[in-house]
This record gives sequence, C-alpha cells and structure tokens, in this order.
Amino acid sequence: MRGGTLKAVKADLHVHTCLSPCASLDMTPSRIVKTACERNLDLLAVTDHNSAENVKAVIASARNTDLVIIPGIEVTTSEEVHILGLFQDPGDAISMQELVYGQLQPGQNDEELFGIQVVADEHDMVDAINTRLLIGATSLMLDEVVDAIHQRNGLAVAAHVDRVSFSILGQLGFIPPGLKLNALEISSAMTPSEARGRFEECRKFPLLTSSDAHSPEQIGRVFTHLLVERACWSELAKALASIDGRKVLYEQ
Ligand SMILES: [Zn+2]
Ligand SMILES: [Zn+2]
Repeated sequence: MRGGTLKAVKADLHVHTCLSPCASLDMTPSRIVKTACERNLDLLAVTDHNSAENVKAVIASARNTDLVIIPGIEVTTSEEVHILGLFQDPGDAISMQELVYGQLQPGQNDEELFGIQVVADEHDMVDAINTRLLIGATSLMLDEVVDAIHQRNGLAVAAHVDRVSFSILGQLGFIPPGLKLNALEISSAMTPSEARGRFEECRKFPLLTSSDAHSPEQIGRVFTHLLVERACWSELAKALASIDGRKVLYEQ
C-alpha cells in the first residue's frame, strides 16, 4: 500500500499564450507563471490554438516555482469543434502539433485581422513570429483528433461545451456515441451543477472548469479542484478516471 495522502490542488487547464492570435501580447511565459503563482494555482495547462510552440518556454519559466505546467494544445477540428489535448510529455504535444500543422488551412495568418502569433522564450524574448493560419479549422475530424491525442498518451477534453461557438454541443448538439473523451470542460459562464442540469451530456463525463484565459487577468478566474496526491499529469489522469480515490472535486 502506498501511503500518500490526497489533497486538493487548484488547476487551470486551459490557458493561451501570446502565440494564439486572439490572445493578449501580455500572455508571455513569465507573466503567465507569475500570475498563476499569485493566484495559488498548482497546475496550469498551456493550450494554444493548433500549436504547442510556447509550451517549452512556459515550462522553463516555471522551473523554480511550485507551479506545474501541463503541455497542451487546443485543436480546431474540421467540424469547428475545439478539443484540448493534455499531454504528459512535451514531446508528445509537439508530435500532435506536427500532425496538426500538416492539416491546417493553406495561407498565412493575417496579423491585422487575427493578431500576431509570437513564439517566445522563457525570458519573454521574441524567438519567432509564427505565420501559419493557426486560428482556422484543421482538416482533422473530431474522432481523428481524439484518437491522435490518445495515441500520444494524452487526455482529450471537449472545450467550453456550454458555449454556442466552437464547442461540441454547439456544433453537433450531442456527443457522438463511442467518442472516447476523458472529460468535458465548461466555461466560466456556468458552474458544474448548472451544466449538469442543463446538458444531459454533462452528467456522463467528468467536468473541468477552466478559464480559457486570453489575458493575464483571466488566469484562474475559474479553476478545477482535483483531489490528488500531487499536482502532475498522471494524477490528473487518475482523477479523470476516478482511480485510487483521485477525483474531481465539485463545489456544492
Ligand atoms: Zn476554444
Ligand atoms: Zn481556448
């Protein structure tokens, strides 16, 4: 028997960086880490639109803090549904990014229209400007994205399911039977109990509440409490699967 005691950790599992065209340029690696630490977050997932290029810089920036960073990506499927991939290994997030990059719409990002896409280093210096059309849909279908995330040892989460746009319930109206999502995420607009009351699908999956922060003030505005041994990806995976007493804690 392992003697680890379980505790509540505070997780915000959907945060954009300055790489997402629609995010604030203030969402630099060190600003994200500093803000998350000030708000007592234990776990934070970096989830840019169709890219994971800033994951390593945020991990490096958090190195001397108690904050644990989960490498992630927010993929737009061909159905215009946003799916989060949350990975244990940064290399798996980059592998997912490579798949996504091969399936992006052709053409370049229009900075005037969508915003600039900054690849930063851990000291918030500009490493590069990404010119891909990150904001658009990929040609990957929903089930292909979920399978690709699982093939890379990732957790697949349907993002902001209560929202009308870019959500699985908004676009399809239902969750296809057999789609192996690990959790559903609800936006800051709703509590888990409200979501369960409103959407039947929300009674069938674990629910995460995440900020989908695009600017520093939004980081941790809502979060998920996880009952786990410590803040890390494998404990999150156990909590979503209700293994060994780990679970998502819901406000009553
Ligand atoms: Zn989204
Ligand atoms: Zn998002």
